[in-house]
Amino acid sequence: MSAPTDAQRMEKIVSLCKRRGFIFQSSEIYGGFNGAWDYGPLGVELKRNLKNYWWRVMVHERDDIVGMDGAILTHPAVLKASGHVEGFSDPMIDCRTCKAHLRADQLVEKKGVKQCPNCGGKDLTEARQFNLMFETHVGAAAEESSVAYLRPETAQSIFVQFKNILEVSRKKLPFGIAQIGKAFRNEINPRNFTFRSREFEQMELEYFCRPEQGMELLEYWKEERLKFYENIGISRANLNLLNVPDEERAFYSKGTYDIEYDFPFGRQELEGVAYRTDYDLSQHQKASGKSLEYFDEETKERFIPHVVEPSAGVDRTVLAIICEAYAEDQAPNDKGEMEGRTSLRFHPRMAPIKCAIFPLLRNKEPLVAKAKQILDLLRPHMFVFYDESGAIGRRYRRQDEIGTPFCVTVDFETLGEKQSDLRDTVTLRERDSMKQERVKISDLLELLLLRIA
Ligand code: ATP
Repeated sequence: MSAPTDAQRMEKIVSLCKRRGFIFQSSEIYGGFNGAWDYGPLGVELKRNLKNYWWRVMVHERDDIVGMDGAILTHPAVLKASGHVEGFSDPMIDCRTCKAHLRADQLVEKKGVKQCPNCGGKDLTEARQFNLMFETHVGAAAEESSVAYLRPETAQSIFVQFKNILEVSRKKLPFGIAQIGKAFRNEINPRNFTFRSREFEQMELEYFCRPEQGMELLEYWKEERLKFYENIGISRANLNLLNVPDEERAFYSKGTYDIEYDFPFGRQELEGVAYRTDYDLSQHQKASGKSLEYFDEETKERFIPHVVEPSAGVDRTVLAIICEAYAEDQAPNDKGEMEGRTSLRFHPRMAPIKCAIFPLLRNKEPLVAKAKQILDLLRPHMFVFYDESGAIGRRYRRQDEIGTPFCVTVDFETLGEKQSDLRDTVTLRERDSMKQERVKISDLLELLLLRIA
């Protein structure tokens, strides 16, 4: 069962994202630009942590996957061969009553009659196909020969470069090519904050294999990808695995799983893991006239590899991480009275700021100097933040709200003024439990590195 939707929770999340600099509406001062979003100082850190972690587990920690970074501007022949020029479209319907442009699958049906979901109107146009690709023109003249597309997915440049990468990497099947980058789709109805945007980023792997390995590798990658989400702090209980039924799968796919997340606005796809057979490479071989075959030196066979594709959205995953982390509880203020607290319980691996450093008082030079020393000690290893303004409780609360997992406070004990055995120790405070421990400055770096790895 999908979790119930919670519009109020979503509103609070959107407002926190803006207030604290995670995500802003694009071109906001001009009234906003629908379907595009800008990430602020904290959002960009979160997004990078996600992409870096994906790259680490998919490329750096494996021997069988290499990376690439392809161009966004795409030759029309590529997208003709892949089927996007002809087939990458949504059927669209207009409501003549309220003039809404709707995707055919958004209509509601009452007693067998299709209606507009906005006004209930039944006067609807016929469905017409609406291609989702952004077209542009390359060069000075706008004639047809210079048409190019902004890529609607990163995958196609991987297929098109398959042969080059195979040669330079000297990999044997099974092996994969990974890519993270922007993709563009002229979505009819961008909605649910960043969930459905017109400009977004994807993290895609094309894992090439022998035909008889396809189904088994589909299962393997589904499991690997589920583990990934747990390792970035998304609990299994909020994920759903959908085995996409035959009639809803692309005709060339022999098996597809959708990994879905229970967002406050409902259960929605985060990632598709699809066994795409040899469809893409065959299409490009046919259209380009260049061989995209693999030669197996052991069996002396020549064939077009099959492929399993885990394809995830960066922005959707960032949104899921934020939704998962958003929490409201009670915490004591500086007078010891309990009050409401909002926090983002990010997995430390994903948190934009790993550790905040506070001198107890801003006007005590030795405290400030020590805090700055700690800042310099940690800075080369992680993103840290220095704050000396306001009461300590307020400073903790500000860090809780942006998901900083650890705070270090330099106090008079650190200076050894009260107890000499506490000299050069600090208070390390953990965000979720609010527990505080006394830690030697000399142990701090190692301890934090262990907890944020
Ligand atoms: P949907 O059915 O939600 O439109 P899709 O099945 O068309 O998605 P894919 O073509 O499988 O999506 O793309 C792979 C991944 O790219 C998706 O799982 C999603 O995370 C991301 N993605 C696709 N379209 C968008 C979009 N408009 N905005 C943000 N992310 C997107």
